Amino acid sequence: MHGPIPPERYFPYLTWTDIEAMAHRDEVVIVQPMGAIEQHGPHLPLVVDSAICTTVLGQALAQLDPAVPVYSLPPLYYGKSNEHWHFPGTITLSAETLLRVIHDVAESLYRAGFRKLVLLNAHGGQPQVLEIAARDLHQVHGDFMVFPLFVWAVPNCAGDLLTPKELELGIHAGDAETSLMLSMLPDQVRQDKAQAEFPQDLPTDSWLTMEGALPFAWTTRDLSTSGVLGDPTVATAAKGEQLLQSLAQGWVRALEDIYRFRQPQATPAGGQRDGLEGERV
Ligand SMILES: [Zn+2]
Repeated sequence: MHGPIPPERYFPYLTWTDIEAMAHRDEVVIVQPMGAIEQHGPHLPLVVDSAICTTVLGQALAQLDPAVPVYSLPPLYYGKSNEHWHFPGTITLSAETLLRVIHDVAESLYRAGFRKLVLLNAHGGQPQVLEIAARDLHQVHGDFMVFPLFVWAVPNCAGDLLTPKELELGIHAGDAETSLMLSMLPDQVRQDKAQAEFPQDLPTDSWLTMEGALPFAWTTRDLSTSGVLGDPTVATAAKGEQLLQSLAQGWVRALEDIYRFRQPQATPAGGQRDGLEGERV
């Protein structure tokens, strides 16, 4: 059941008595891998984002110092994927449903004594939902440290491997995701069906962009007929293996930082923090 996650790091393999006996549960890091079941062009399966976050996390956990307590929850395969909903096979949760799922999982962990939760997401369509969930959980529980994180956000070698055009516009089912899939799940890639398609009809002579500081709302069908945004024809398993290793190394470092992290607690100059906002329950 654990897939790429090392079994000794797989939360569902614990018993309730293991958890009750766990010392310093407040310092244990729990990771929720989050992906999507959504179209990734004619050449890649629906599972890409879920496969990427789980495999990168599994590789990172395998390299992590065994003294750093981190456990992975089962991956949340479904995400908010409504930008892809014109393409059959895409399964989407609404933002409201995803918020509720994160909230209920997080509250269950908090009740069990855990105080550090990482939402490790590989799907570009839902960081905003994770950020809202993380802020709301921390506002309710001042001692709950919640991290809404994107798997691609750690320093990695994509800049050395991908063309500038791909780095800017290849956001879906392009070189990076296809190379990773060729290294992780080669039997599920139909490379003979791979076709390049870059976003079409973008504004010219305008500050408005697909992503970035001044974005406009879009669904994938507005930009692409194949569902691909990027060039998967140049993908290779060797590039994918390099990407996977550099992402995993980045997450080893990030997980160590999260283990050492303490929530900032501002105090007045020379004084003690008063009890205005109540107990940190
Ligand atoms: Zn994807």
